[in-house]
Amino acid sequence: MRNKENRHKKEIDFSIYTETYLGKVGELTLKGSNIKTFEKQLVNNLRTALETADAKVKILTGRLYVQCTKDSCGAVEFALDHLLGITGWAKVQNVEKTMEAITEAVRVEGLKAKELGARTFKIDARREDKDFPLNSYEICIQAAGILFDDGTMDVDVKHPDCVINVEGRDMAYVYCAQKKTGRGLPVGVSGKGLLLLSGGIDSPVAGYRMMRRGMRVECVYFHSYPYTSEEAQKKVQDLAKTIAMYGMETHLNIVPFTDVQMKIKQKAPEDYSTLMLRLCMMKVANMIAEHIGSDAIITGESLGQVASQTSQNLAVTESFAEFPLYRPLIGLDKEEIVNTAVEIGTYATSILPYEDCCVLFSPKHPVLRADVAESKKIYEAMEIDDLVAKSFEGRQIIRYSIRDEIASMMGR
Ligand code: ATP
Ligand code: MG
Repeated sequence: MRNKENRHKKEIDFSIYTETYLGKVGELTLKGSNIKTFEKQLVNNLRTALETADAKVKILTGRLYVQCTKDSCGAVEFALDHLLGITGWAKVQNVEKTMEAITEAVRVEGLKAKELGARTFKIDARREDKDFPLNSYEICIQAAGILFDDGTMDVDVKHPDCVINVEGRDMAYVYCAQKKTGRGLPVGVSGKGLLLLSGGIDSPVAGYRMMRRGMRVECVYFHSYPYTSEEAQKKVQDLAKTIAMYGMETHLNIVPFTDVQMKIKQKAPEDYSTLMLRLCMMKVANMIAEHIGSDAIITGESLGQVASQTSQNLAVTESFAEFPLYRPLIGLDKEEIVNTAVEIGTYATSILPYEDCCVLFSPKHPVLRADVAESKKIYEAMEIDDLVAKSFEGRQIIRYSIRDEIASMMGR
């Protein structure tokens, strides 16, 4: 036991962990008795992401603390930018709980803010440690005095250019700029979903939305080489990697779908070909979902966005799903979806001009109001189940994770 402790001490020199970050825990705080489970998941997620960085993570009274070396700051900021379950984070100064140390830290933050163009400020002080000799109001007055008296900035409590925060906890934490992030719940508290990921704008956003509700998301992409190019597949791989940064990790299942698609073209009435393709996708999705123990299937469909997404056609696709079907974008319009795509960094990839398999085989006049029974009949008549099963067997799997991404950032 002693050996183990000594070894641990030898390996970690805590004095080099000079940089401190503070994350604001979001919706977690509303979760009552489950809060411990949620907090544990949040901390575990950040620890996993930062496994190869020199950083330590803890959570205390609604705040996530990260201490790290200077060399690990980039990795920590990348991890915090993508971490779901916090509303924002800040790089902070942690100083002793004396008024001298606090006012000096406030002065430093004030000067930094002024350099960035701020002319007015306010102090927001709170004390977790009620033994602190001054109360929040007194901290505000004294700390504000230091900037006001030496003419650095004016006070404006209603519309300040910058808010300097002072938090009295185990130490005093002082910070100004705060970065807002994805919010939501920590990934891992809401089961697992299988996302049908195409190269378009919508499906990566749909995956991200479910991650934000705490789901682990795995992906499946249907590839029809040579009708869809290697570039189209590369694009989907890039999208899977981008959303994996939020979802901790994902496995992208690439399913060879050329034979299925050719058979649909031969056997299905032309106006039903897109719908039949969707049904075949759903069949394979059922198999993968079963195989990986998924709780739901997720798509990027949005009501009325394209011909295949009328309420009748959506009902047909749904009738083939053997798992709950989540369509987080169903009631959003394109602009709202695009805004999220831009925010999470998938938009630029999604609009690259590589065709997806549905475009090449799209009928001129797709059926708009398909009927469930009629569609089932057409599906059965294609006798396509063997090919569908074969495509499932032929899938390739690629894994992406934020842990690996940070390891490569750290050169480890
Ligand atoms: P997206 O922008 O996500 O491609 P879309 O508006 O182009 O969506 P469709 O092409 O009708 O809509 O696809 C609807 C949904 O079906 C997609 O959001 C996605 O979930 C799934 N999907 C479509 N094509 C594929 C594919 N090749 N591989 C995996 N899933 C797909
Ligand atoms: Mg598409």
